[in-house]
Amino acid sequence: MIDDEAYRTCSACGGDCPPEPCGADGIGARLVFVCPRHGAQSIMDPFSRLR
Ligand SMILES: [Zn+2]
Repeated sequence: MIDDEAYRTCSACGGDCPPEPCGADGIGARLVFVCPRHGAQSIMDPFSRLR
């Protein structure tokens, strides 16, 4: 098992959630992982470690 991919796995169906850009909060580029059937699963901020 690869734990690094847990954030993009749907908790409801276990399927893969394709990342989509989500920068509407004004902070910058974020990725939201959206299951085609169950909606958004998690949001990842690639730049959080830089702050
Ligand atoms: Zn799902």
